[in-house]
Amino acid sequence: MSAAESVVSAFSDVELEAGRRVFAGEWSFLSAAASVASLPPMAGPEIAFAGRSNVGKSSLINALTGRRALARTSNRPGRTQELVFFAGPRGLVLVDLPGYGYATAAKSKIAAWTDLIHDYLRGRAALARAYVLIDARHGLKAIDESILDALGEAAVSHEIVLTKCDLIGEAAVAERREAVKAAMRNRPAAFPEVIATSARTGAGMADLRAAIARLLHERS
Ligand code: GDP
Repeated sequence: MSAAESVVSAFSDVELEAGRRVFAGEWSFLSAAASVASLPPMAGPEIAFAGRSNVGKSSLINALTGRRALARTSNRPGRTQELVFFAGPRGLVLVDLPGYGYATAAKSKIAAWTDLIHDYLRGRAALARAYVLIDARHGLKAIDESILDALGEAAVSHEIVLTKCDLIGEAAVAERREAVKAAMRNRPAAFPEVIATSARTGAGMADLRAAIARLLHERS
């Protein structure tokens, strides 16, 4: 059993089942947008995923939806430069934001992607929550803090997800979790929990689905 799996779930069986149901069924590509002007019309509630390039965002979306290749994974950081929208069975829309912090891209490109992410996060009424993905091995970086600042300023509900927890030990996951929680305490729009996941083992996926189902229930 991996570190993240051995943590007792913060959700009841009923909530875990609700999470499973929200995600069960067909997921499909809806659209991609390289600018705010080309965003699709708002339909269902949107859950966005943000994170540094290579944090494991595509892998997480695939694991969550149970579709191996819904979001394109890549070993080449910085490839995804668009917001990609996926439509789920119960009107839920997942949004894969461009990975940020790709060190070797041109400065002008980085600025354009950052503006696009910030504009989307600030101005999208359908956005129910943004999950900010943090590599469990590396913790919060300055570039993550700037996205968290933008989310806080826009008062968008957000929560941290630790990725790749299979790559470090149980104690290190627990330690990272506490450190990130502590760092998030002065951010009022941030949800105080931190979900530890691994797309590789599936750890934490049921909790993340349950968290999203709970949020949708609260909004409806
Ligand atoms: P993205 O750029 O954030 O979309 O990241 P990807 O999903 O493409 O993943 C980047 C790299 O990390 C790939 O080599 C993945 O195989 C690897 N990866 C993603 N998630 C996990 C995980 O949970 N565990 C491990 N060990 N590797 C992962």
